[in-house]
Amino acid sequence: MKIVCIGAGPAGLYFAISAKLREPGHEIRVIEQDPPGATYGWGVGYGEDLLDTLFRNDPDSARRIRSASVLWEEQGIALRGADQAYLGGYGYALNRASLLEILAERAQGLGVDVEYQRSVEDISEFPEADLVVVADGANSKIRQNYVKEFGTEVSQGDNPYIWLGTDRVFDNFTYDFQETRAGWIWFHAYPSSNGISTFVVECQEDTWRGLELDQLDDEGTVHLLERIFTRSLDGGSLISRSRGRPASWQRFTQVYNQTWLHDNVVLIGDAAHTTHFTIGSGTMLAMLDAIMLAQKLFEHGDDLAVALKEFDVQGHAAIGQMQAAARTSMAWFENVDRYLDRNVHEFCYTMGTRHGGQRPWQYQHHLINQNLVARKALRLLATGSRWYRSCRRGEPWR
Ligand SMILES: Cc1cc2nc3c(=O)[nH]c(=O)nc-3n(C[C@H](O)[C@H](O)[C@H](O)COP(=O)(O)OP(=O)(O)OC[C@H]3O[C@@H](n4cnc5c(N)ncnc54)[C@H](O)[C@@H]3O)c2cc1C
Repeated sequence: MKIVCIGAGPAGLYFAISAKLREPGHEIRVIEQDPPGATYGWGVGYGEDLLDTLFRNDPDSARRIRSASVLWEEQGIALRGADQAYLGGYGYALNRASLLEILAERAQGLGVDVEYQRSVEDISEFPEADLVVVADGANSKIRQNYVKEFGTEVSQGDNPYIWLGTDRVFDNFTYDFQETRAGWIWFHAYPSSNGISTFVVECQEDTWRGLELDQLDDEGTVHLLERIFTRSLDGGSLISRSRGRPASWQRFTQVYNQTWLHDNVVLIGDAAHTTHFTIGSGTMLAMLDAIMLAQKLFEHGDDLAVALKEFDVQGHAAIGQMQAAARTSMAWFENVDRYLDRNVHEFCYTMGTRHGGQRPWQYQHHLINQNLVARKALRLLATGSRWYRSCRRGEPWR
């Protein structure tokens, strides 16, 4: 089959890998507007379940992804840089640029043709393709040409955010909420590679304007944020430029499509659906789409229409719950000032349960987590579980 894939992000590249592994006879081209190595953003967080899936799907790239990743084992929430409370859990993160490098190399190694620095305007550029996979991200230009056909609904979150890096290494997932003269502003930070951590700053619109962040240039923004978060940064600096381009303030783009199908064109990843970054799942969902689509093509090799239809129906069913959780999480952060008069432990509990669905023992578990000895014991248990799962994957223990 001749397949053209638009966009060399995690969705496009991982689809190419997954499809080629299942059917080496496919001719796959991935077309990317940027040069190799250029990308936005910093670290990408993910969980153990994704690692299990990646190892099952392609152990070669999974091993490289794991060895480029760092582990975090705790979530600390601070109010005004001082009072601290904790949420449990652990996860992994790696630089988005490293992830893309690993995936591009693996795809090319399998015989995929990755063409950089070509911006696609429309699918009509590929009359020879049996299948066009649209993986060009949340603001997909291609999808915008077929809004009616896909039943696209796009909206924007209220809060401005900026995706920065920092040389202050955060070992764990860290949130800090600071009160300024113009209102509350906060960051989420986590390790993303050796020596650099990811640092996403968010606030409400009034605070953003009140602090004149809407008027400051790149340098001014970084200086002001460094001043506000000076205590948490502990002498570290913020970094705005990721691979050449300075970061800019954004509003989260929420994407929903009634169908991901139009003739022989299929949407995957952020082009199809987005989930707010506060649940850190967009890359995972993009890669899961990629695997599911490749698998459907493999199962129904001689009937493309059936393969695409199954992908559309099962894909929508698979992400429904996650999209709902992401919307709730985004709304929680947009209304966070409602909870900021609470003490840090109460605030932290509200944050940990913002997706709803609390279990009866969750508050007791939260209280236990505030105790250092109990936290260390829970961490030991989690290490046991990590060890077991890494042995099951056949991965060397680290
Ligand atoms: C602040 C922030 C933090 C995040 N943190 C996490 C996290 O911790 N964990 C996680 O799982 N997810 C996270 N995400 C979400 C994640 O970044 C996305 O869900 C993921 O990148 C989606 O992958 P994709 O391949 O669908 O799209 P993208 O990664 O956006 O890739 C699309 C590619 O298509 C290319 N392209 C666009 N238009 C064209 C065109 N016309 N022609 C050719 N090429 C084109 C682009 O250059 C790009 O390379 C975060 C997002 C944000 C905003």
